[in-house]
Amino acid sequence: MNKDIATPKRTKEILEKHGFSFKKSLGQNFLIDPNVLENIVSHANLTEKVGVIEIGPGIGALTEHIARQAGKVVAYEIDGRLLPVLEDTLSPYDNVKVIHQDVLEAELETMIQEEFAEYEEIVVVANLPYYVTTPIIMKFLLERVPITGMIIMMQKEVADRITASPSTKAYGSLSIAIQYYMDATVAMIVPKTVFMPQPNVESAVLKLTRKEHLPAEVKDEDFLFKVSKGSFVQRRKTIFNNLQTSLPNGKAKKELLIAALEAAGVDPKRRGETLTIEEFAHLSNALYDDFSGE
Ligand code: SAM
Repeated sequence: MNKDIATPKRTKEILEKHGFSFKKSLGQNFLIDPNVLENIVSHANLTEKVGVIEIGPGIGALTEHIARQAGKVVAYEIDGRLLPVLEDTLSPYDNVKVIHQDVLEAELETMIQEEFAEYEEIVVVANLPYYVTTPIIMKFLLERVPITGMIIMMQKEVADRITASPSTKAYGSLSIAIQYYMDATVAMIVPKTVFMPQPNVESAVLKLTRKEHLPAEVKDEDFLFKVSKGSFVQRRKTIFNNLQTSLPNGKAKKELLIAALEAAGVDPKRRGETLTIEEFAHLSNALYDDFSGE
């Protein structure tokens, strides 16, 4: 087996060899502990039949652990300075393709047709750049990218919000947007010390698995997320008060708003944080005809 990229000594050597300096603005905190990497990859249950999409390979620390177990890895890296580094560090692996692009701009559907046609399953495995964690996850979910799951490192605080249950402090529109599509659990907590440079926050690895059935049918998913977002604008206020100010013409159409809450079986005096995803789904359907237009 090749020498691991992710030891403190080898990482330093690679960075020095290529004269690389970290860009904080790109969320560059590289993993330097092979045990943590092994652990992350073990949660993905990789085999030769699985294709992996990685976001932000950095100098290839996680990429090589994925490449040893998966059929193929396609990794999106935004920082052009890392391309020659990756060419060097990942040269022992012929099942890795690095694409120099912002993943948020990527045509994932086309890439999947071109790169993963022969694979039984596609998963995302990544140590995400923390400044764009949520947009990246939501891109995969909203574009209905045909992945079965995601094993992703992020700020622990964000992982807690994603996995939160109703009536807890961390529960909010992010919990609803992600749990609508995926089952979410925290697979491991990761200390700052396994990164170079160390981030200011604690990290966690989140495991997202696609739900077999959506929790409820909604008329319009974007509208569901608008309603849930609008219900948490001021957490201490009632759902009625929040929706009155956040929905278009909410104040003018007070009676219609009350009628929709009643039709969905939601007491207007409840707080948004007490509603389950199913209740938000029923509520967004009841509001749709009168409130989805501007
Ligand atoms: N995977 C490496 C590791 O674990 O050591 C590096 C992870 S580091 C937290 C995040 C990586 O994502 C960096 O290499 C950064 O340049 C890259 N990145 C940041 N924003 C990106 C974007 N929008 N699209 C693709 N890559 C991005």
